[in-house]
Amino acid sequence: MSDAVAGFFAPWAVFAAVGVLHLVLPARRMAGYARHERTGEVLQYRVNGLLVFVITLAVWCALCMTGLMPWDWLWQQRWPSALGALVLGLGASAATVLGAPTSGRGLLAELYLGRRENPQPFGGRADAKMYLYLAGAVLLELNVLSFAAHHWDVFGGDASPGVALYVVLMSWFVVDYLVFERVHLYTYDLFAERVGFKLIWGCLFWYPYFYAVGLWAVADLANPDAPAWLLVIAAAVFLGGWVLARGANLQKHRFKREPDRAFLGIAPKALSDGERHMLVSGFWGVSRHVNYLGEIAMGVGLALALGRPSMLAPWLYPLYYVALLVPRERADDRRCAAKYGPLWDQYRAEVRWRIVPRIY
Ligand code: NDP
Repeated sequence: MSDAVAGFFAPWAVFAAVGVLHLVLPARRMAGYARHERTGEVLQYRVNGLLVFVITLAVWCALCMTGLMPWDWLWQQRWPSALGALVLGLGASAATVLGAPTSGRGLLAELYLGRRENPQPFGGRADAKMYLYLAGAVLLELNVLSFAAHHWDVFGGDASPGVALYVVLMSWFVVDYLVFERVHLYTYDLFAERVGFKLIWGCLFWYPYFYAVGLWAVADLANPDAPAWLLVIAAAVFLGGWVLARGANLQKHRFKREPDRAFLGIAPKALSDGERHMLVSGFWGVSRHVNYLGEIAMGVGLALALGRPSMLAPWLYPLYYVALLVPRERADDRRCAAKYGPLWDQYRAEVRWRIVPRIY
């Protein structure tokens, strides 16, 4: 088999390995937030992403250390492997959507947004959405490590410290997601979206390849000799963003499960119509989606970390977040207005800003 053919199928192999490991490894069983579309029962999940990630990474390291695969093989094969993921993402999207009964919207809308809400194959042992996010996260990490390995192979002692910083920050992003995988059960994708091209192709191709766009652009370039203060700012912006995003998501997760319990010493203050409750203290009093601001700041930190602030490619990542999250905030706002009615109006009056306090 030529290297290019192997490269094409490499993401298929990684996704298959992730799927098998997810199914066979022990997992924490937990109730989610989304409900079954017909029965209305709260869905149950098996969560073991971190374990799957560690084992996949260990196997990859073993293959590289024993010389069976060069450390930068996924870099060498980045074009065929991206093509393989793209084709698989398209095929899997079409098969998943067309294999499900129509929900009555147009075919194009259904292909893009999906038909089924929360498929849980293998007798409920796996959840399609959670698997897709896990598969994308694992391959993203392998790509990032392999792209960086190429840089270190080529430039050795004169490698860019920014590349090392980028690897640390992006790995933080991936591992953080896996450590708090259970919190993801309470997010928009899980309770409001269906499984179609947007989610499948997004997780199998876009997530593992586009999210590494900064490194994709600079792995072959020499050390830009960025000043240390720029790297310090990059790390600070990323960590500040992480505090906002993780803090807000954890606070809401705590509030949904234990509405009276304080979070980081912040007593929960909520608006209520007697039946439903909206958090207005802590992160949720700053803006209505301060977690989105945090996520965008993390993207800005990653772009700066590469030490080439005037280069366009690293900025595509935070720009993509803006393009993703600004319309998502609008969609969530419409959803919440319909769900909560006057309580949502009250919340909007109390917390005026959508994402960025005093600006937007
Ligand atoms: P949120 O976590 O903000 O969830 C929005 C939902 O939370 C609302 O629909 C509502 O649902 C509930 N809610 C909103 N305001 C309040 C409040 N004040 N009190 C109580 N409940 C409230 O958004 P997402 O799920 O979109 O995002 C979750 C995280 O995932 C964010 O950090 C986001 O940036 C990140 N993300 C990351 C992506 C990536 O590619 N890395 C992509 C997309 C998102 P309910 O009906 O339960 O009340």
